[in-house]
Amino acid sequence: MNLNNLSPIQVFVRIKPSSSNDEDELVPFKISNHNTVLTLSNSHRLSFDNIFSPESTQYDIFESITPLLHLPLHGYSSTIFAYGQTNSGKTYTMLGPNEQADICLLLYTNLLTSSSSSIQYQIRVSYLEVYNGRVYDLLKKSDQKSNNKLHSLSIREDGQGNINVADAVEIPVHSSLELENILIQGNQRRATASTYMNSSSSRSHALLILWIERRERSTSASSREYTSYLGRLNLIDLAGSEDISRSKAEGDRFREAVNINTDLLQLRRVLDALSTSSPHIPYRDSTLTRLLQSSLTTMQSITILISHISSMNIDLYETLSTLKYSQIAK
Ligand code: ADP
Ligand code: MG
Repeated sequence: MNLNNLSPIQVFVRIKPSSSNDEDELVPFKISNHNTVLTLSNSHRLSFDNIFSPESTQYDIFESITPLLHLPLHGYSSTIFAYGQTNSGKTYTMLGPNEQADICLLLYTNLLTSSSSSIQYQIRVSYLEVYNGRVYDLLKKSDQKSNNKLHSLSIREDGQGNINVADAVEIPVHSSLELENILIQGNQRRATASTYMNSSSSRSHALLILWIERRERSTSASSREYTSYLGRLNLIDLAGSEDISRSKAEGDRFREAVNINTDLLQLRRVLDALSTSSPHIPYRDSTLTRLLQSSLTTMQSITILISHISSMNIDLYETLSTLKYSQIAK
């Protein structure tokens, strides 16, 4: 893949199939120009890198993402964000362990088949949650004594400016089944945590991080030496983008809404800045972008924003707002 010709920020749009057959309830839309132009209600005409119709499958999306896997296999980073209002299909695309084919498992299976006798990949996974500006570990077993109380992790910066989450659990994975079980555990924990925080899981961001260590055997036959590179693939299921602060949310719900809006706005600013090669990238302004700083900064990195929209008229306000957010400066 020639990265020089590819914008480092790619924006995909996925339209969720509707359960209704009633034409009056559906937004009339047209996809044209090799799946890059979306015309909505005959008036809004918008361009994206790739548009997926309601009929598209997980495999269609996987196929357009696979070339980007190239980077983490060679010691660089790729990041995929799922954006959209609650119920628009973000989790379905990315992390849902109950779907046969979420992107995470498809990517992992693909990774496994890339190993050969001279190149081995070792994969470790971390699964974090960002809620109200704090980072929680979805893979850490809660000890009985703490009574399920959640402890947030701290973010540290090392001498080289790399951002790390202190004490985040990293589990080595050797098969798709193992990864699937880790996802199930993590998702269960995400649900329990949100009950504990008296919220819903759609109000937090989930970050699944695959650390991919590539070990290449030295070319000289006598040598037993390896060269290794560490790549990283981030799969991020963002909090629902609906603006609940417009409703009369109060107290915790209001604070939560304000935090989510700020995170999503800052993410958008970072993507805009990266996309226009701005000298100042405002990573530090939110926990989410700060956590991903090392992944997004690298010269050789690719980021895909997959924006999810509904095909129902009733969701049109949120759909337009999602599409507006997705117009990243290029
Ligand atoms: P979100 O994570 O954005 O809140 P979900 O992924 O949970 O949304 O999807 C909401 C519901 O719609 C789920 O029942 C899911 O199975 C279904 N769904 C989402 N996307 C699709 C799709 N492309 N095809 C079929 N069903 C879908
Ligand atoms: Mg979800």
